[in-house]
Amino acid sequence: MPSEVLEIFAEHQQLKARDREAGGQLFGRVAWTTVTVEHATGPRPTDIRTRYSYQPDRKAEQAEIDDAHRRGLFFLGDWHTHPEPVPSPSPQDLHSITEAFKKSTHHLNGFLLVIAGTQRLPSGLYVAVHNDKEAVRLLPRTRASCAKQAAMKEDAHGKTR
Ligand SMILES: [Zn+2]
Repeated sequence: MPSEVLEIFAEHQQLKARDREAGGQLFGRVAWTTVTVEHATGPRPTDIRTRYSYQPDRKAEQAEIDDAHRRGLFFLGDWHTHPEPVPSPSPQDLHSITEAFKKSTHHLNGFLLVIAGTQRLPSGLYVAVHNDKEAVRLLPRTRASCAKQAAMKEDAHGKTR
């Protein structure tokens, strides 16, 4: 997940009492076992947003999907914010992602659902792949965390040598 995408989530975290939920779509590529989110959209001025709910503008969503397709990117899932430190999906969130998975045409075995809570990111992120049968939680890997892991590995090797 590139830092530009994380920045979009961070920018809309509901840190203040008046901040409303925000959300958008996730686009990217799928190669073997790696899903790469390269682009996040939203929020749009035409979304309906309250403190505890978020209703995307469906027409704008379709336009984003068409636009991404022209650039070779696929729809991977949705993101939105929650006013809680470590977020978990609401029954409505689970219903929407399952319906989206069942009703749209795609070649994926699940859609990504990302929820950004109020805790520092990426620890305040819920990231999971959902389909109509199950949800699999993922640990988001940011470019920074990949670099950190590589450095830790090097350190470990250094110690064993
Ligand atoms: Zn939600």
